[in-house]
Amino acid sequence: THFGYRDVPTGQKQKLVGEVFTSVASSYDLMNDLMSLGIHRVWKRYFVATAQVKPGDRILDLAGGTGDIAALLKDRVGEKGELVLGDINVSMLKVGRDRMTDRGNVRGFEYVQCNAEKLPFPDASFDLVTIAFGLRNVTDKDAALREMHRVLKVGGQARVLEFSEVTAAWFKPIYDFHSFNILPKLGKLFANDADSYQYLAESIRKHPPQEELKGMMQAAGFARAGYRNLSAGIVAIHTGYKA
Ligand code: SAM
Repeated sequence: THFGYRDVPTGQKQKLVGEVFTSVASSYDLMNDLMSLGIHRVWKRYFVATAQVKPGDRILDLAGGTGDIAALLKDRVGEKGELVLGDINVSMLKVGRDRMTDRGNVRGFEYVQCNAEKLPFPDASFDLVTIAFGLRNVTDKDAALREMHRVLKVGGQARVLEFSEVTAAWFKPIYDFHSFNILPKLGKLFANDADSYQYLAESIRKHPPQEELKGMMQAAGFARAGYRNLSAGIVAIHTGYKA
């Protein structure tokens, strides 16, 4: 296991996204719980529990941030499994590494600073690639999906957990009110940072809905692309395979 932050050139938007996550890194976990009433933990557990994983697999968790997904995945791949956490933001990776170490998760973890659009890994080097609540922050999502496909081994699975389009009409106004009124206020109250949380709400709204993302996965080369809505489409899990 090595600990390497590889420098990558970052564009204008990446810089902005970087600043957002640097400013929220320390309050990130608390905010996730507040914003989702703790439900993000259930989504993440389901996302990992239904992943195509076998003991000893080598897994890339992109936008791995504070390490929630990687820690859950480690339980599934066991002693021999390897987890690479990739994130564009060093502050998020550092919070993730510290938390992993606190939980006793040291062996089998690697931390790599990288942009999802241009991965510093050879072709066919992972059994599973995951990205949870990360794709919507990536500027060139098509490039990121192509890269996820490239680094997968044949037969490997890609999984995307992301906010999506709410399918129940009655729920939409409540959800909008939560996103654009409550969420920035919580951000101000608990993280003294309303702007970052306003940005997060907007990024959720701009993210491609279920069918569009499925089409993007097919265009990136994935076979059997599909999705499943959780909590009436507040989030969706997209999957695809390398044939
Ligand atoms: N996966 C974690 C989770 O589920 O809690 C963290 C999600 S957090 C909302 C989004 C993460 O995406 C941040 O850590 C951010 O630094 C990272 N990120 C944003 N743009 C990225 C990019 N182009 N490449 C890699 N990571 C990126």
